[in-house]
Amino acid sequence: MKEMLKRFSILLFCLLTGVLSEAVADTKPSLTLDTVSKKQGEFFTATVSGTRFIPDLWFNGEHFTMFRQKDGSYRALVPVENLSKPGSYAILAKADDWKEKIPVTVVSNNRPVQKIWLDRKTNSLKATKEEKEQVKQGLRTLSSEKLWSERFSYPCSGRKSSPFGVKRSYKGAPVSSYHKGIDIAVPRGTPVKSPAPGKVMLTGYESNRFHVHGNTVIIDHGQGLTSIYLHLHSISVKEGDVVNKGETIGTVGSTGISTGPHLHWGTYLYGTSVDPELFVESEY
Ligand SMILES: [Zn+2]
Repeated sequence: MKEMLKRFSILLFCLLTGVLSEAVADTKPSLTLDTVSKKQGEFFTATVSGTRFIPDLWFNGEHFTMFRQKDGSYRALVPVENLSKPGSYAILAKADDWKEKIPVTVVSNNRPVQKIWLDRKTNSLKATKEEKEQVKQGLRTLSSEKLWSERFSYPCSGRKSSPFGVKRSYKGAPVSSYHKGIDIAVPRGTPVKSPAPGKVMLTGYESNRFHVHGNTVIIDHGQGLTSIYLHLHSISVKEGDVVNKGETIGTVGSTGISTGPHLHWGTYLYGTSVDPELFVESEY
C-alpha cells in the first residue's frame, strides 16, 4: 500500500510539473519599453520576454540585434540618432509567429547650432581613410557578453567645455553634423580612466595616420555599447586588453584636430553616438 502511494504521488508530481512547464512554454511573448518618448541623442531600452529564440527588433527601418540577459529575456538599447527628425515612429519586435509594435515619439533635444566657417588650413586636414574605417568598425562592435553592470564614472573630472549633441552647420549649409561626445577641459597629462569594464578594441596613433582623431582608444563594453577617447597625449593599453572600471588607459593631450588639451569622450550604441552622460546618470 505504502509503495503504491509513493508511486502514485510520483506520477502525480510528474503530471503536475508537466502541466506547469507546458504553461510556462505557452506564455505569450511581450515587448516592453522603458518609455515611449525619447529625445534625440538618447536611447530606448527594449525588452522582449517569453520567447524561445532571439527576437528581431526594428526601429526607424534599422534592425537591432537583441542580447540575452541573465533573467532569460532579450534586450536592446536602441539609439535615437541626434539628427533624427522629431515625430512619430514605432519599435517592432518579432519572433516565430508573434509580433508586437509599440508607437514611440522622438522629441527634439533643442541643442544649439554651431555655424562653422573653416579656414583653409583646417579644411585641408581631413580624416584619413584608415582612421575613418578603423574607428567606424571599432564603434560598431557587437559582442554578446555584457561587461558592465554599474553606472559609468567620468573618465576624468574637470570642466565640461562642450556638451554632447551641439549641431553643426558648415559654410551656411543645413545642419549636417554634430558633436558626438562631450569635451572635458583638463591639463595635458591628466590620466584618462575607463568609466566601466570593457575590452580595448582599437588603439590608433597620430603617427599612424590618425590625423583628425589624434591618439585614440575605443573600448567595447559588450551588447552593442562602445566608448571612444580622442586627442590623447599617450596611450597605456593595447588592443585586446581587458580593462576594469577606473583603470588608466592613457593621458589627456591635444593630438589630431584640437585647439588645446582636452578629452573628447563619446559613447555609441550599434555605431550610433548617444549622450555619454546618460550612462553616468543611470544604470543600464
Ligand atoms: Zn569633442
